[in-house]
This record gives sequence, C-alpha cells and structure tokens, in this order.
Amino acid sequence: MTVIERFLKYVSFDTQSDENAGVTPSTPGQMVFAKYLQSELEALGLEEISLDENGYLFATLPANVDRDIPTIGFIAHMDTSPDMSGADVRPRIVADYQGQDIPLCEEEGIVLSPGQFPELLDHIGEDLIVTDGRTLLGADDKAGIAEIVGAMAYLKEHPEIKHGKIRIGFNPDEEIGLGAHKFDVEKFGCKWAYTMDGGEVGELEFENFNAASAKVQVKGLNVHPGYAKGKMVNSLLVANEFVSLLPDAETPATTEGYEGFFHLIGMEGEVEHTTVSYIIRDHDRVKFEARKALMKVCADKLNEKYGAGTVTVEVKDQYYNMRQQVEPLMHIIDIAFAAMQEAGVEPKVKAIRGGTDGAQLSFKGLPCPNLFAGGLNFHGRYEFVPIQSIEKAMKVVVKIAELTARRY
Ligand SMILES: [Zn+2]
Repeated sequence: MTVIERFLKYVSFDTQSDENAGVTPSTPGQMVFAKYLQSELEALGLEEISLDENGYLFATLPANVDRDIPTIGFIAHMDTSPDMSGADVRPRIVADYQGQDIPLCEEEGIVLSPGQFPELLDHIGEDLIVTDGRTLLGADDKAGIAEIVGAMAYLKEHPEIKHGKIRIGFNPDEEIGLGAHKFDVEKFGCKWAYTMDGGEVGELEFENFNAASAKVQVKGLNVHPGYAKGKMVNSLLVANEFVSLLPDAETPATTEGYEGFFHLIGMEGEVEHTTVSYIIRDHDRVKFEARKALMKVCADKLNEKYGAGTVTVEVKDQYYNMRQQVEPLMHIIDIAFAAMQEAGVEPKVKAIRGGTDGAQLSFKGLPCPNLFAGGLNFHGRYEFVPIQSIEKAMKVVVKIAELTARRY
C-alpha cells in the first residue's frame, strides 16, 4: 500500500468527534477506525501494539542498532472536526493542478477557487485530493496518520536506514480538546515526540499561547430611578467602565504574531448584577502574568470608587506555552529542522495563536512540537491536501528517525 492508498482508505471511516458525548472516544466510529488501524499495524509487523478502552492506539518500531538512542514518538489524531460531516467522504484527485477553479459539487455550485483560497496557487503542478463538496476531507489528521504509518512501512523496507526505537500513537477526540487527556505518557515511553497535525508544508510549531479565562463579577445597588441620586450603583455601567479600563488595542481584532490580547467573550447582567467574561492570551509568560494582574488592578480601581467588593475578578489558567518545556531540549527542534531540509522542505517556524494537544502533552512530561501534515482549509468542505505534501511529510518522519540515530 502506498501512503496515498492508506490515506484514501482512512478517510472512508467516519470519525467525527462529538463535544457533548461525555465518553472517550466520543463517538464509536473512532474505535472502529482504531481497530482497523491496529490490524494494519499488525500486518506491518510492528510490535507492542496496544489499543486501550479509550481508543488510544500505540505501537513500536524496534531499533535496528544496538547503540543507546533515545526513544522518540510520532502522534496523530483519529477524529475529525464536529464542524462538518465526515460521513461518506468521497475524495477526488485533481491531477497536475494548473490554477483553475475546481468544481466540487456541480449540483450545489460549490467551487474551490484560488480567488477565495490563494494558497491553492502554491501547489501548481501538484496533484490535489479534494472533497465532493458535501463533507470535510479529513486530511486533518488522517494525512498525519498515513504519513506516520507510511514512514514506519518505509523504514521496515529499508533496514539500511539506522534508527532507534520509534513509538507511534494515535489518539481520539483532539478536535474537542480532549486528545491529550487520557494519553498515557508513561506507557508511551518516549523522550520526546512530534504531532503530525500542522497545515502547510514546512510548518514547525513549538510555541503556543499561555491561556487563562477571567470572570468579572460586578455588584450593583438598585433604587427607584426617580430617587436614585447618590444611591444607585448600576452594575452594567460599572462593568462598562471595567471594559474601558483595559487597553483597546489589545484585542484579537487588533493583534497578530506574538501580540497577546484580552478577549471580551461575554457580558450578561442587569442593574443589580453583571458578569463579564474574558479570555486572556499571551505567548510570553511574564506578559501573560502581567495581563492577569492588570485585571485585578482595574477591579481595585473601581472598588476604590464604588466601595469594596463591588468588582471581583476570578482568573483561571487554562494552558501554557509549550516553549518553556521544549526550550531546554532545543535539539528536538534542530532535528526536525534538519530533517525538513534533508527532505527538501523549507522549515517555517510559526507561533500558534491558540493551543494544541502537543502543548498539553508537553506539560504532562512529553515535549511535543507540531509538524506539518500538509492539508489546508481544515474543518470544512474546502479542505484539500496535495499528494506531494503527504509524501514530503512522510519523508520528514523518516528523516527525523534517521537524524536522531545519527546524533547518538
Ligand atoms: Zn488536527
């Protein structure tokens, strides 16, 4: 089986996850797919294959040298986004793409056009796998799974490539934020790993936001409005004052790159009581802490004006930037960087303006940067993946195994 044949087989499984399920995996289709993958890994002759009751599938490609080389891992997720159906996916290959509009569904007039998606033009001359316009494709992240399995098959067929012990891990429910929750890092047993879950060729990510949520409670005092002078405290107006105390140029709509923000996500209230909800994001830990502190300063200011206890702020940390876990082990980035270059891919280091499973795994003790899997326009009907991108990502996995061994 080629890596592309594997990919096309994988997208035939409906593995859409469901954030309201309350079980792991959140949908039975993911377990069906996991069992199928398990049989493929067995057929490949991998070892230590385990599929637990939560749908986490692990396997080992044993080392083919005696030296003491650190065990490394490759991880991808089996589920697809709840945003769009992943049932009955009918992929189609557009060979030798020349920059034209691609009709996905004639009946419904759905077209994948470089006018709307200029990134298509980066793939002229390549072969694109697209949808029929009715479902997502599932390259996120079945391209990642195909690349990892394809690379293990390649390494098996090429014993002249020396490598240490390689672990692979496929997890459910990444798209609902639970991919890392039940990931048994100890059982996985790797010094470090890479998630194959990025987009465009060359992406290499090891920085994400530090993240917190904040709930601001404002207490008011209601009095008959005709006789309220000097007595009424309108919590809605105090909440409005709170909002205006935060820097208005530090919102999602006014920031990019490494710029952090306060994001006002909800306001609910009447005169007596108002709740204001925020999320706080910053790549820099010091600035992140300063943002959280600023919220308290604003509350203090208003409490001075309106009386103690008028405004309270409750801040909860959500996740942290994996850079602080990865930085002491920069060679894991250097290896990925060099592997890409040897595979003919230009590395593009990018800071994620969000979180990843890899970040959660990094804080569970498994440093885990994210590499490209090649797909684009994730989570919708316009998702596509160039065949050449899948092949490049697979080559990068092989090269990482090879270069890790070469260093030790
Ligand atoms: Zn993904």
